[in-house]
Amino acid sequence: MSTCQITLRPEAEGGEITRVDVTYRLTGWAAEKGREMFRAQLNTVSVPGAEPMGLTVEDGDGPVPFAVRETNPYPILYRHWDAGRDLRGPVVIRYAVLPCERLSQGRHGPYFQLARENGGVSGPGLAFLVEVPEMQGDISLRWDLTGLPRGSRAVCTWGEGDVHLSGLLEILRQAYYAFGPVNSVTEGDFGFYWLTEPPFDVKELAGFTKNLFGVMQRFFHDDRAVYRVFMRHDLTESSGGTALARSYMFGWNDRQKVTVQEKQNLLAHEMVHNWPHLNDEPYGITTWYSEGTAEYYSIMIPLRAGLITPAQALFEIQKRTDAYYTNPTRRLSNMDAARVAWQDRRAQRLSYGRGIFFLANTDALIRKATAGKYSIDDVVLDILDQGRRGEPLGNEVFLAAVKRIGGIDVRDDWQRMCDGVPFAPLDGSFGGLFTVTETTAVEADTGRTVPSYAWALR
Ligand SMILES: [Zn+2]
Repeated sequence: MSTCQITLRPEAEGGEITRVDVTYRLTGWAAEKGREMFRAQLNTVSVPGAEPMGLTVEDGDGPVPFAVRETNPYPILYRHWDAGRDLRGPVVIRYAVLPCERLSQGRHGPYFQLARENGGVSGPGLAFLVEVPEMQGDISLRWDLTGLPRGSRAVCTWGEGDVHLSGLLEILRQAYYAFGPVNSVTEGDFGFYWLTEPPFDVKELAGFTKNLFGVMQRFFHDDRAVYRVFMRHDLTESSGGTALARSYMFGWNDRQKVTVQEKQNLLAHEMVHNWPHLNDEPYGITTWYSEGTAEYYSIMIPLRAGLITPAQALFEIQKRTDAYYTNPTRRLSNMDAARVAWQDRRAQRLSYGRGIFFLANTDALIRKATAGKYSIDDVVLDILDQGRRGEPLGNEVFLAAVKRIGGIDVRDDWQRMCDGVPFAPLDGSFGGLFTVTETTAVEADTGRTVPSYAWALR
């Protein structure tokens, strides 16, 4: 049995956490001379990660020499460490990372920074933990908080304080972390964490999110209790959210007022990301599905559960209609959009808009073809079950599930959606609660008049 123990030792100086010492202890793991040992994710979709400093590797025979190289499979920049000789376990990797300042200019990025905030630090594992490819077994995370003021806390998605897991080491990278003067609202393994006291009622927001989690768990047939939400005070003028495994981080800022009403859709969107996915290799090939389902169910699940009213759902649907059909980049194909997504954030939004309307249309078509017996829900849940059985998931799995469950072939519609060919939302979509009519709207940036759609309550 392989084991990997990671110890994190944050250190504070002058009221700020200035460095984090990271130690990996690996047993039952080896690497041959010339082969990659591990890699760091130095940049993710244009957001810099924390660079490992003073890195050393040691095994039973002493210090291990290594060679370093970088690769850039879009949209990630990796640094790889290759073994200078054969390794004999146990292996110890040591390095330090320096948490960065929060972004203060431009748009909020995805929350991939290991950033300082109010005497603490928060961020995702992938920003500061090196990846040991294929490493799995007995995984533990230990915190050494002796470098922090008394009363400091440490938490990650998988638990508060030290955690013990088994499986892929990657689950520690696909998790959010917060340490320092962390505040929280928790109930069992559901938690809401923040470093800066916000000017709104966090308890209300946490309560709403917990209810939402219960509803989504039932819908997606999930009985695992763990779910943790991390909040960041943004210095930028806009805020968003980013989901990882069983957790997400979302931001708030001083410019935009935060209420449950205004945040509920973002919180729902990020939470949906815990479930429906297709393999997104090459990058962008199935983003329409992950963002489309997150958008679709961020409205439909709260609506069905009575957490939002039909009028609120109408508002959310119209907002997405206006955004997509007036987006000047909407003729880009999915793959072309993915290539420029992090330079042109308008293109980054395309998968959201075409994903939601394509799924809503497919739902209407399946309901019609099966006289209401089946819907897109059955397709999404079927794909989720296939994933739980370990089957590889891609666009073909989606198309096959629609055919098998709904009895219809949507390949041509799907291809047009992928190619950026315009398509109209269908009547009967979004649960048939609304009507939709063609109208015109003003294209963003160009001011041109373009076709769009107007929704109304039926
Ligand atoms: Zn999303």
